[in-house]
Amino acid sequence: GYHKILEENRKLYNQVQDLKGNIRVYCRVRPFLPGQSNLSTVGHIDDGSITILTPPKYGKEGHKSFTFNKVFGPFATQEEVFSDTQPLIRSVLDGYNVCIFAYGQTGAGKTYTMSGPKVLTEQSFGVNYRALNDLFHISKERKDTFCYEISVQMIEIYNEQVRDLLASDGPHKRLDIRNSSQTGFAVPDANSVPVTSTTEVIELMDIGQKNRAVSATSMNDRSSRSHSCLTIHVQGRELASGVVVRGCMHLVDLAGSERVNKSEVKGDRLKEAQHINKSLAALGDVISALAQKSSHIPYRNSKLTQLLQDSLGGQAKTLMFVHISPEVDAVSETLSTLKFAERVAMVELGAAQVNKDNGEVKELRLQVASLKAALAKKE
Ligand code: ADP
Ligand code: MG
Repeated sequence: GYHKILEENRKLYNQVQDLKGNIRVYCRVRPFLPGQSNLSTVGHIDDGSITILTPPKYGKEGHKSFTFNKVFGPFATQEEVFSDTQPLIRSVLDGYNVCIFAYGQTGAGKTYTMSGPKVLTEQSFGVNYRALNDLFHISKERKDTFCYEISVQMIEIYNEQVRDLLASDGPHKRLDIRNSSQTGFAVPDANSVPVTSTTEVIELMDIGQKNRAVSATSMNDRSSRSHSCLTIHVQGRELASGVVVRGCMHLVDLAGSERVNKSEVKGDRLKEAQHINKSLAALGDVISALAQKSSHIPYRNSKLTQLLQDSLGGQAKTLMFVHISPEVDAVSETLSTLKFAERVAMVELGAAQVNKDNGEVKELRLQVASLKAALAKKE
């Protein structure tokens, strides 16, 4: 009897989880860097909202507020940021697909969140490392019931071309995104490396970083103008039944979202900027179409959204970290970043959703009560 109640309760809990939506948006504010004046445009921050102080040209109020699933202030630690990400990691082992993005203008802290600072310490490890570390831990915990295999790929998308950052001969070849019934949308020709420990992962990330640097010969900082994607494939076989579950997680450090002044850049830089604009807009369109439960999701408009097709929408879970810089001269980029993010999150987070949640929770509570009553009658 009791066990059955617990089972029902779990089902209901999962339904509530589902109602909360599969798209989440977290905002993170970078602290001032050494030597910067600390004149900040970030006003009030609480758990779910942030207020930006705006100069007169943005209107008389002098401030604008934005609401997200979570807002991390400048003093949030890597550990705190990750602890709200953890449930997604677990779901990869249960066979879900997950996408985690870092969005924001160059210098706002995307790479810091995903990979950590240049000189790493235990405290400063980013989401990528922590996610894999968790995957290893949880798969060990489950070793009596499941046998897991974990492998990683690392690619970059630059000017709508896909390159392998783990290729042994460097990231020279252009790769194709293919769809197969076995693996769904993937880059089958990119090196896929089985991993069993975080030490191996750190080595691979190092290779990936170096390969990104190799391709940067013509530009001093290509990394801010390409999307890089660490993909983790997980395959778990249930020992008792032999049933296999597959999950996949994409950890994406997006190209800088800053708009370039078209009158100032020409040639290669202009082409790059156009590719970046196009692919970030395509990503925004896909996520907002998903959030609005639209019948047509425009995956085909960019390489990025094609690649992630199986991990955006459906049962997949999406988390976007939106990064902003606190400096005064970044204020217009900050506002356009937050507007993008709000558009992505809007439908999920509107007041209507909150009410619906409360109503549904109440409804589910009633169901639990009546189930309990029915059970009591039977026993
Ligand atoms: P992006 O990848 O968005 O261009 P970075 O992650 O490279 O930006 O961050 C720019 C600089 O700010 C780097 O020196 C980075 O170490 C530092 N930084 C970013 N976020 C934080 C943070 N939360 N705490 C401390 N330093 C940070
Ligand atoms: Mg970066």
